[in-house]
Amino acid sequence: MKSENERTNDGAPRRGRVLVFSGPSGVGKGTLLKRLFAETDFPLVSSVSATTRSPRPGEIDGVDYRFLSRDEFLRRREAGEFLESFEVYAGGALYGTLRADVEAALERGDWVVLEIDVKGAASVAATYPDAETIFIEPPSIEALRERLKGRGSEDDAEIEKRVAQAEAELAASGFYRRRVVNDDLDEAYKKILAFLSEK
Ligand code: 5GP
Repeated sequence: MKSENERTNDGAPRRGRVLVFSGPSGVGKGTLLKRLFAETDFPLVSSVSATTRSPRPGEIDGVDYRFLSRDEFLRRREAGEFLESFEVYAGGALYGTLRADVEAALERGDWVVLEIDVKGAASVAATYPDAETIFIEPPSIEALRERLKGRGSEDDAEIEKRVAQAEAELAASGFYRRRVVNDDLDEAYKKILAFLSEK
């Protein structure tokens, strides 16, 4: 596949693209994105979100997230540094995308991948009307529940919280330009590839 990071006639890099991926926890978003990064020549870069939640074992500051104290997060939010920021789970941590990171990537001609929740996606789509917004959905809520159970990383109460969150996200996801049902991983991957190759 040829690189899409071409130059315009005056030699400046072509402005990049914003690619927003959302979908319930356990839907297989991470696996699909990993494949996209490993197997395509698209000039993809991940946007590293900021969050006030604590790092999980193995997570690296500046790679998985920028882990900020709540005070620091709120100060930067007040200063207008966030393109979008939300409390993803009610009463929980704050998450946000830093505007400067996204703009720098776009100017380099990169395709910036944002893996963010539905509220964040709506906000990004309002700022960047050309953003590609892709919602990955499970074949059914029951299938999602089974997947979360199979992962074994959450207890039953946590699973039900995520299932309820998934139902709410599905209900609010009508504005996405693309939808991909992750029933068969290969099929879902091909569909995403086709969407990204369209222009
Ligand atoms: P986790 O804590 O499991 O890493 O992420 C929880 C949720 O936060 C995921 O659904 C993820 O999409 C969302 N998220 C991660 N970063 C951001 C962000 O910068 N903005 C928004 N709005 N959501 C985010």
